[in-house]
Amino acid sequence: MDLLDTLTAKGLRGEVPTREEALAVLATTDDELLDVVAAAGKVRRRWFGRRVKLNYLVNLKSGLCPEDCSYCSQRLGSKAEILKYTWLKPEQAADAARAGVAGGAKRVCLVASGRGPTDRDIDRVTDTMAAIKDADPEVEICVCLGLLSDNQAERLKAAGADAYNHNLNTSENTYGTITKTHTYADRVDTVQKAHGAGLSACSGLIAGMGETDEDLVDVVFALRELGSDSVPVNFLIPFEGTPLAKEWNLTPQRCLRILAMVRFVNPDTEVRIAGGREVHLRSMQPLGLHIANSIFLGDYLTSEGQAGQADLDMIKDAGFEVEGAGEATLPRHRADVAEAAAAAGSCGSAASACGSGGGCGPCGGHSHGAPEAAPATEGTDDGPREDLVKVRRRGAGTELAPNA
Ligand code: SF4
Repeated sequence: MDLLDTLTAKGLRGEVPTREEALAVLATTDDELLDVVAAAGKVRRRWFGRRVKLNYLVNLKSGLCPEDCSYCSQRLGSKAEILKYTWLKPEQAADAARAGVAGGAKRVCLVASGRGPTDRDIDRVTDTMAAIKDADPEVEICVCLGLLSDNQAERLKAAGADAYNHNLNTSENTYGTITKTHTYADRVDTVQKAHGAGLSACSGLIAGMGETDEDLVDVVFALRELGSDSVPVNFLIPFEGTPLAKEWNLTPQRCLRILAMVRFVNPDTEVRIAGGREVHLRSMQPLGLHIANSIFLGDYLTSEGQAGQADLDMIKDAGFEVEGAGEATLPRHRADVAEAAAAAGSCGSAASACGSGGGCGPCGGHSHGAPEAAPATEGTDDGPREDLVKVRRRGAGTELAPNA
């Protein structure tokens, strides 16, 4: 296929495709799927070899959120029967983190539900990071606490955080239908605050919420333009008790096409298969490793993943290897850009097609002359797979050992 030859050549050079090319990846057929995976795999191996970075989630505070994100089991009014608890003590969080690191995780992701942290919350997380780094100074820590106020990112950076996660989730155009209690611009602002404070920006998306191909391409280009160093690709887990409980829109093939599109637009950026991997990719998970270079080990915030050992076995069986603590994740040129951007206090787009002529204003909306949005065309054949959605009942916030 000319399309795949073009995308491979661009990816090997670290170039970003056009929006039309990205849309065309999503429109490929099942007959073309292995060719798409192989093309994305060449780009993945060019920049990341066969390494797989393992990340480990610790949910510091679960449920009871005042925000109304439709996809989230922790949202205001959620009837999902998830674990609900307030802040873990630093030692409890450090115990959970230790289990993840012992299982092979290089990065620990400290997450708390809520609109955003108070200054007291920043203190709590500071203590938690100290407890984790006391036990293992090498571990990378990514913090995810919602919308940041002024100076909070700087405080987290000074306390030892390496990265901050705040996902854009979907396109600017669609955002208002997913969440009413904050805006897309709020989210962009927090990613910029984190990046400006010198934290590595981790920001990604959720697929399967009823969005169009155009929406997916919009958000992926926006993430590239924001200079996200790590792009988690979540596949919606339609929790019973949330507004999106009936949105079973994904097939394994669709998920692989989405991952490939994200890889082509972010050839030299960490692409992570995040929540929903087991539910939606199912037995096709190993093919996802040929595209993405990063996954979560074990369980997610409110749902259970496959056993941590199964993750490790899958990586080995597919011919990949777990990335070690001493190995750099990003290619050198990307790491240099990220460091320079942090030093300059800017959002540091590596290959910005934003065309804003300077500054870091929110970009990535519908200003790129893209074709008309088309409705998502596939993916409903499989029907709901509620049997695969397992609410987390172990690890942080319970008496049971974590899955790692
Ligand atoms: S995604 Fe975060 S802010 Fe939104 S409802 Fe869930 S916990 Fe709250």
